[in-house]
Amino acid sequence: MSEVSYSSDMPVPKKMNAWVLKNPEELVQIIKPVPVPGKAEVLVRIDAIAICATDLEVIKYGTPALIEGGEPFNKNFTPGHEYMGTVAALGPGVDEFEIGDRVTVEIHAGCGQCKRCRSGMYTSCHNYGLNYGNVNKGHRANGFTSQGGFCQYAINNINTMIKVPDGMSDEVATLVVTAGTSMYGLTELGGLVAGESVVVIGPGPIGLLAVAVAKSLGASPLILIGTRENRLKIGQKLGADIILNAKEVNVEQEVKEITGKGADYIIDCAGSEETVNQSIHMANRGGKVCLAAFPKKPVNFDIGHLAVNNIYLYGIRGEGKSATHRAMAFMAERRFDPSLVHTHTFDMNDLPEAIRYAKERVDDAIKVVVTNSY
Ligand SMILES: [Zn+2]
Ligand SMILES: [Zn+2]
Repeated sequence: MSEVSYSSDMPVPKKMNAWVLKNPEELVQIIKPVPVPGKAEVLVRIDAIAICATDLEVIKYGTPALIEGGEPFNKNFTPGHEYMGTVAALGPGVDEFEIGDRVTVEIHAGCGQCKRCRSGMYTSCHNYGLNYGNVNKGHRANGFTSQGGFCQYAINNINTMIKVPDGMSDEVATLVVTAGTSMYGLTELGGLVAGESVVVIGPGPIGLLAVAVAKSLGASPLILIGTRENRLKIGQKLGADIILNAKEVNVEQEVKEITGKGADYIIDCAGSEETVNQSIHMANRGGKVCLAAFPKKPVNFDIGHLAVNNIYLYGIRGEGKSATHRAMAFMAERRFDPSLVHTHTFDMNDLPEAIRYAKERVDDAIKVVVTNSY
């Protein structure tokens, strides 16, 4: 009962290759022991992992990663959080999964005991990062407060795992967390967007999948705003009814004209002073604005306009309330084609080059995926 289960069909080595963060922007590949799952945990063999803008931030600035209560540098910490793989071992008592199951994982396993976790807001857990030494509150966030996925094996809480349907590629399965983040934004805004006007600003991966998810939920009309023509075109394929290039038109005026009284929902995935203000000014009275990107500096915004028009402003963190499961349901039913945002694939050994593609947007890179070959 209290044993970890392994299977001879899927032998697990004692050691693995893992990228670790030394100084800022310095990743090196080392040999690490393969971790052993505990209660309510499984060991996942990582088959594919997508690179996220937040990974680039962690690698450069350290935040929002928090390892042993401090910055993540020179602690043998492996970043990376948007991964999928195959269950390779089961912790004691785990019967929810079987060895060999293909799974994709969401990032956060909250502590399960704080006020926020108890209401499903585990991405805002009060015990974030309290999981080292004697301070173990049970909180885990892959690649932020616990070991991530730029390696061969990682431990995951069973609450964070979703089975991948047959026929879905490894690369597409890594995108579930991104779609889940978009889904969480829409969930927090109220969720019932059928027949409501929705504007998405910023056609990055979260914005593009926000378009896909909002369309699947029945948003109409659905307007995507950006500045890169190629990304706007992809947004159109994912379900945007109208695309607006912010370099060419006055987007506030256009949205007012298209919707009559302004948009019911706005999802700002750009997070600049300009887009926050545009969001507020293009909102309908009583409209809702979701801030899905976090500006690094304080921004000035027109709070007077917001107050007198009864506009709601929502801060969104990650992929809470099991939104990832709902995103997977849409993806499994092929309501949209997430592979449109996956542009490049690299081998895990070439991670630094993959990161360069993601960071510098080489060759119009949107989502860069890294795969392990065994
Ligand atoms: Zn991410
Ligand atoms: Zn918690």
